[in-house]
Amino acid sequence: MKPPPLRNDCFAMPPGVDWTPVDDALDVLRQGMRVVVGHQEVRVPAAGGRVLADHVIARQPNPPFSNAAVDGYGFAFSSATPATPTVRDGVDRDRNSVVTLPVTPGRAAAGAPHGTAVPAGHALRILTGAPLPAGVDTVVLEEDVSSDGARVSFRAGLRPGANTRPAGEDVRAGARLFESGHRLRPQDLALLTACGIGTVPVHDRLRVAVLSTGDEIAEVGTGRVSAGKSGAIYDSNRPMLLDLIRGWRHGPIDLGRVRDDPGRIRDALDRGAEEAEAILVTGGASAGDEDHVSRLLKAEGELQTWRVAIKPGRPLAMALWKRRPVFGLPGNPVAAFVCSLLFARPALRVLAGEDWDQPSGFRVPAGFSKRKKPGRREYLRARLDGEGRAVPFASEGSGRISSLAWSDGLVELGDGARDLREGDPVRYLPYSGFGVS
Ligand code: AMP
Ligand code: MG
Repeated sequence: MKPPPLRNDCFAMPPGVDWTPVDDALDVLRQGMRVVVGHQEVRVPAAGGRVLADHVIARQPNPPFSNAAVDGYGFAFSSATPATPTVRDGVDRDRNSVVTLPVTPGRAAAGAPHGTAVPAGHALRILTGAPLPAGVDTVVLEEDVSSDGARVSFRAGLRPGANTRPAGEDVRAGARLFESGHRLRPQDLALLTACGIGTVPVHDRLRVAVLSTGDEIAEVGTGRVSAGKSGAIYDSNRPMLLDLIRGWRHGPIDLGRVRDDPGRIRDALDRGAEEAEAILVTGGASAGDEDHVSRLLKAEGELQTWRVAIKPGRPLAMALWKRRPVFGLPGNPVAAFVCSLLFARPALRVLAGEDWDQPSGFRVPAGFSKRKKPGRREYLRARLDGEGRAVPFASEGSGRISSLAWSDGLVELGDGARDLREGDPVRYLPYSGFGVS
């Protein structure tokens, strides 16, 4: 069962739009995306990180039976009357009343239930996790009793049902545990299992192909080309993007790197469309002489070039290649990273069956001042200092790859923001909110 591919016009901007505000670009992207992967049933232990293809209902209550929450003695609350009856409504009026109960033979333990009913006015040795036998609804903690072996005594004042876990107090049978589109976390597997669920319907993993383009791009460590000689630079984008995709729990597919050559780019995109449901390409996305990616996508792939009003980031090329969405990202690693977090991440989530998601951020005081041009959104690579203020990397230059490694998040300066003074509130988006850890 596989849904049909995306529509051809899914990336179209409204006519007349020149520099598109980030939010408008995100709106268009959001409207064009929907799930493109099929689904399958998998066993719960293997379902971590997978996206639910349907909601899940609890088969069994949790806990499945009423049981003891502590080691101690179980009895029927209504039959445990203190010697001096000063307890009313579970409250010991003179704080001195004592209950004494004869101990009935046997015990109840986890996995070893007590087979017979406990007579009224008697207590039974009971251990944590043991099912409450008939005739027991309340447990007194072992440390709160004195015992001569035949009887136990304890202070009155327990509430009815104390130290027990009633069946279904956590989850009722039939309760909705998770919605379709939820990506399962380790603790979710615990809940599914507790509620008797052995398999779940999950989406197939979204495969995302990554391609680097550029005549200058060289592989590190091959020994054949060294960066610096004849203008070569190492391919920083591919290891970064492949690892981002892995971290987002999609299936990364490495298409390698190709020269600025339309034929080779075409072949690589064909391979990407064959092996993956989405493609990330870096380099060649502008309108320059050697920007063959955008030219090719325009000629053969329903290109929509977006001039997004964002820094860092130049035109973002969105296209369908053989009906697979292609994200043409800037070649510059800093811009490629920021644009991947902002645009590729939520779109890939939807393609994979998850919901569209805004990164979570919070307001902090700026630990810097800055003059900013209004009319575009800016993202600064930043960290929080000891006082919780956001400090940006020393240089804003988008060639500063070290700023990515130095930073823990982005400071978002709104489209309309102008001069910023130290102490002004700014929005800080930690990388963890983008699923980068
Ligand atoms: P482009 O988008 O092709 O105009 O490239 C913009 C800048 O990013 C140029 O300085 C390129 O050399 C650089 N660049 C492109 N691709 C990569 C890459 N894979 N790794 C590092 N830098 C790159
Ligand atoms: Mg280039």
